[in-house]
This record gives sequence, structure tokens and C-alpha cells, in this order.
Amino acid sequence: MSPGLPRLRLSPSRSFVYLPDYAQIVVGGGTAGAALATRLSLGLEHACILLLEAGPAAPDELKINVPGMKGSTLGTVYDWNFTTVPQTHVKDRVFTAPRGKVLGGSSALNLMTWDRASEGEYDAWEELGNPNWNWDSMIHYMKKVENFTGANTPTYGSEGVGFKGPLQTVINRFIPEQQLLWIPTVEGLGVPKNLESLGGNPIGVMWQPSSVEPTHYHRSYSANSYLPIAGSNLVVLTNTRVAKINLVKSGKQQRATGVTLSDGTVINAWSEVILSAGTIQSPGLLELSGIGQASVLKKAGIKQKIELPGVGENLQDHVRVQTSYQLKPGFTSFDILRYNATYAAEQLQLWKDNQFSRYDYTGSAYTFVNWDQIGVSSTMVPLAKKAAAASKSVTVHKQLEYARDKAVPQVEVIFSDGYTGSKGYPPATSPLFGINLFSLIIGIMHPFSRGNVHISSSDPDVKPTLNPNYFSNEHDIQAATEAIKFARRIATSAPLSGAWVSEYEPGLDVIPGNGTGTAQDAAWRNFALDTSASIFHPVGTCAMLPLAKGGVVDARLVVHGTKNLRVVDASVIPLIVSAHIQTAVYGIAEFAAEMIIKRPC
Ligand SMILES: Cc1cc2nc3c(=O)[nH]c(=O)nc-3n(C[C@H](O)[C@H](O)[C@H](O)COP(=O)(O)OP(=O)(O)OC[C@H]3O[C@@H](n4cnc5c(N)ncnc54)[C@H](O)[C@@H]3O)c2cc1C
Repeated sequence: MSPGLPRLRLSPSRSFVYLPDYAQIVVGGGTAGAALATRLSLGLEHACILLLEAGPAAPDELKINVPGMKGSTLGTVYDWNFTTVPQTHVKDRVFTAPRGKVLGGSSALNLMTWDRASEGEYDAWEELGNPNWNWDSMIHYMKKVENFTGANTPTYGSEGVGFKGPLQTVINRFIPEQQLLWIPTVEGLGVPKNLESLGGNPIGVMWQPSSVEPTHYHRSYSANSYLPIAGSNLVVLTNTRVAKINLVKSGKQQRATGVTLSDGTVINAWSEVILSAGTIQSPGLLELSGIGQASVLKKAGIKQKIELPGVGENLQDHVRVQTSYQLKPGFTSFDILRYNATYAAEQLQLWKDNQFSRYDYTGSAYTFVNWDQIGVSSTMVPLAKKAAAASKSVTVHKQLEYARDKAVPQVEVIFSDGYTGSKGYPPATSPLFGINLFSLIIGIMHPFSRGNVHISSSDPDVKPTLNPNYFSNEHDIQAATEAIKFARRIATSAPLSGAWVSEYEPGLDVIPGNGTGTAQDAAWRNFALDTSASIFHPVGTCAMLPLAKGGVVDARLVVHGTKNLRVVDASVIPLIVSAHIQTAVYGIAEFAAEMIIKRPC
């Protein structure tokens, strides 16, 4: 067992499942589902709650637990391994869309960034028609999630962080020498230092926490933080896949009576069923149960029970592009763990022995900026207006307000130690094998592209048709182009510029110069089209919005047209925020738990 990990309590036998009297069934033991089920078990002591997870529990899996092994679970048995359809606006490239298939869900696979967006972006959820879903309530619930270690230190102040929650967060104790150049370099470009960026104002350059336990330095995620504190009235069943929600007509509405598993077993819930299967699968479960667009259901051969056109639509995601730089001799990066097996083994042993180790490393250096700060408002604001004019979506129109708002970040740049680009680290046969790199990853915070995800069959085992429609409007590709140019500006500014010898990707010879110009813009644009990827933040496919605005759930997270079927996960976020989204997902779970405990369906 990995050091310091609390033990999970799993149901000893499948026979538990046949209990006739579950109050709530939560489908999906991921980020939101495990947190929600835990809180329900604590708040509804006399109710029996069932949490169903398709994947296994993996409490001893080093690839999950060791922060420095982040990313190594992608493409493994712990990943659903979804892919998009060819993206027509991105040279027909197919993008990967990893999702956790393990107790803890995507919180077991993610890269552990722990941050928040600006106040106004949560207030926007309320302004879109969801009473009480605003900054004040979200920060209350998001703080309830976490226990942050490191307040009032040189890396963080005290605003916007919580201290009593089960999820452990810390700003990395391992900061490579080259990363120390980050803040002064970005400050030199006119971006202010902000060491309280989780308090509702993320603009600036900063250190940010990771979801990492601060004593043993293991990943802190929903399965090892929430579930161990759950009441004995929570039954957790892993390797158990739900095929559909069972519904009966009740007046003009549908009432959920329970679920059918993929092996045909029926389990009943007398109070409610809650979907927490995530942005890619919660809409699919609705569709498999007869809730969704008539055309989608007809094509899949499923009888429609509720016409709900918003199901699977409004898909939004953050896109990234990265550049990388070969460090001067004398600097050592995280890459040493890939080119020096002996050193890597020693460092892993140190981690196992609970000692300071390079395997502690997660990224902790970021900047979040608006268009003014990178000097491109005059290009980007008209493009945002054009994108909004072409759309009927209420979320798109709300988003237009952000384009001029100086408090709302449009671009994120992450300093990531080691190589994280697209062409690959030099192979062992290359003379460059053994170089040390750092990468600058840009993320577009408010893309106007909207995509969708739908089932393509009534067979739950068939993967959904996922189309995020990346770069489907000019705003988004131009945003990526401007953001990468900004990243190049950072890299070529002192003092960071003094730490590297050459740009490994794309290369100063491939795209020369630091200024702007048609040829240079075209080259960066092409680079973005060739190398962009997702940051893996899909949201919005069961949007919390009024029915007339294309919503799937109401402000109580109840699916429109049903009495007692809720969705609680990233899919309910109506409009993506300028942050990595796990803090919001956990916050939504905490908010939902309190709502359900006070007023079950
Ligand atoms: C590789 C990666 C890196 C990321 N990095 C970061 C980061 O650094 N910081 C950050 O803030 N966010 C990050 N994210 C995003 C963040 O982790 C997710 O948005 C969030 O965890 C989603 O939570 P969720 O509860 O909506 O879904 P999940 O956590 O994905 O949970 C869904 C669960 O439902 C289960 N399930 C699905 N269908 C069924 C079924 N039919 N029956 C039973 N169970 C089912 C799944 O197996 C899964 O466990 C990353 C995501 C990924 C994938």
C-alpha cells in the first residue's frame, strides 16, 4: 500500500446490491459522485445510499498515487479512452478524450491543478437563470471541499482557500530552479503578481496549489479523501456499470424508480436517482433511458419518454497548445526521470520511503491574463462579437460580456517543467536524448465553439459520438494564435530567456521572430492546427438552464420533465470558467448534497 493512504471501505459482497430500500442511487463514483455520496451518507443517516462505479477501486496504484507519474494512466484500463470524431476545423484530426474509469473517476487521472475562475463567471450561472448559483455560494461550497496547507507563506496568502475539507491541497514543495524565473519574467511583461488567485480574482502570475496530500505527497482525490469518511450507510459497488435509468410516468412527469445494470439487474431507489457519470456519459445515460432529442433517440432505436433537445448539446472545452525549450547545461528538469532510469528508480524509492523526491512534482506556476494584457483586444473583441452574432445560444451571448471584462482571464499559460509537447521527447537513438526541457502550455479559457455528444446505438457498450467542434469559429483559432505568441514572448524575456539554449518546439528557425505579421501569424495558426489538444475540461452537456434556454436540469439539478432524477457532475456547468474545473465540480457536489439533504425529492 502507498504510504499514508487512507483505506477505502468497499462493500464486501455484491449481495448488498439487492437491498430493496435504497433511498438514493448515485451513478458514477467519480469526482462529483464519490463526494456527493459521502456527504449524503453523512447527512441522511437513516437512508441507505448506493454508489455505483463502472471501474475498479485502485487504492494502491502508483500511477494514480504518485504526483510525478501524472499522465501515466492515460490510455490504460483506468481510462474510458474516448476519442472525438475527426475535427473538421482542425485538419480532420481526431482528439483523445480521456475520462477516469476507476473509483474517483477523472480525479484519479487528472493533473492535479487546483484553482478557480473569477467571481463574475460563477455569477453568470445565476444570471443565466439559476437562482443561488453564484460566486458567494460556489466559494462557500468549494472551500468546504478542501484543506489547504500553506496559507500565509511566500507562495500563497489566505484568500479563497478552505481548511476543513477532506480533499488535501498544497503548493508543490518541489520547485525546479528554472521555474523560479517564471514570476519575475511574467511580471516584467506587465502582469501583476497575484498570490491569492483562488479568491475570485485570478488575473496575474502566481503559484497555485495541487490536489496533493502535504505529508506523504500522494494524490488527493475523491476516492481517498471523501469515501473514507462516509457513513456505514453508504454502499459502494465497483466494476458495476449502469445501462439505463428506469422511469415510470407519474402525472405529466417521469419518475425514476431505479437503474438497470448492464447485466440486467434492476436496483430500486425510493427517493431519487442521481447521475454523476460525467460530461461525456451522463447525457448518454439520459438518452439510453429515453430522455433527449427525438432524432437521436429514433436513430438509436430508443422509445422517447421526454423530449429534451439540450441533452448532449452545449459541449464546451478548453484547448491547449504548447511550446518547449531546451535548458542550458546545469539546469535539470523533470525529464531526468525519463532519460535516467537509475535516478528515476532512486527517486521513486524516496517517494515510497516518504522522503523528498522529484516524484513529488506537479505544475504550480501559472499566469491568467485578459486580452488587454497581451495587447490584442482590438483583434479579439470584434471576433467575439462576430461569434456571438452567429449564435442563438444564451451561453454564447453571456460569454460575449467576458471579452471586454478585465477581471475575466481569456488565456492561461502554464509553466510545465519537462517536455509536454506534441512532437515527442527525443528517442534514445537521438543525439538529443538526455536534454532537459520546460514547456509553456497555453489554454484558451473562453472558446466560442460549441459541440455535442450523443449515443449512436442503444447498446451502452458502444462509445458515443463525440464532437467538440474545436476551432469551429475564427475567434478560437485566433485566440490560440495570440496566446502562443504571448508564450513565445514570455520565453524570450529575461530572466527566463537566460535559462535555455534553443526552442525545441516549434523552433525559432521554424517560426522566427517575436513580433506580429501576416506570415508569422499564419505559421502560428498552422502550428495550433497541427498540435492543439484538449486540456480535458469538457462541460455543459446536461446544462443547468431553464428549459426554454436549452437546459437539461433546473437549478435543483433535477432533469426537466422528471420528478426525481438529478445530474450532479461537470456536465451541468452551463458556461465554462477560466480555470481547471475540478474545484467547481467538487463545489457542485457539495452544493447538491446540501440541497438533497435539506429537501430530498
Ligand atoms: C487527463 C485529465 C487531466 C485533467 N487535469 C485537471 C487538472 O489538473 N485540474 C482540474 O481542475 N481538472 C482537471 N481535469 C478535469 C477534471 O478532472 C474533471 O473535469 C472532473 O474530474 C470531472 O468530474 P465528474 O464528476 O464530472 O466526472 P468523472 O470524475 O469523470 O466521474 C464520472 C464517473 O462515472 C463513471 N461512470 C460513467 N458511466 C458509468 C456507468 N454507466 N455506470 C457506472 N459508472 C459510470 C466513470 O467511470 C467515472 O468514475 C482533467 C481531466 C482529465 C481526464
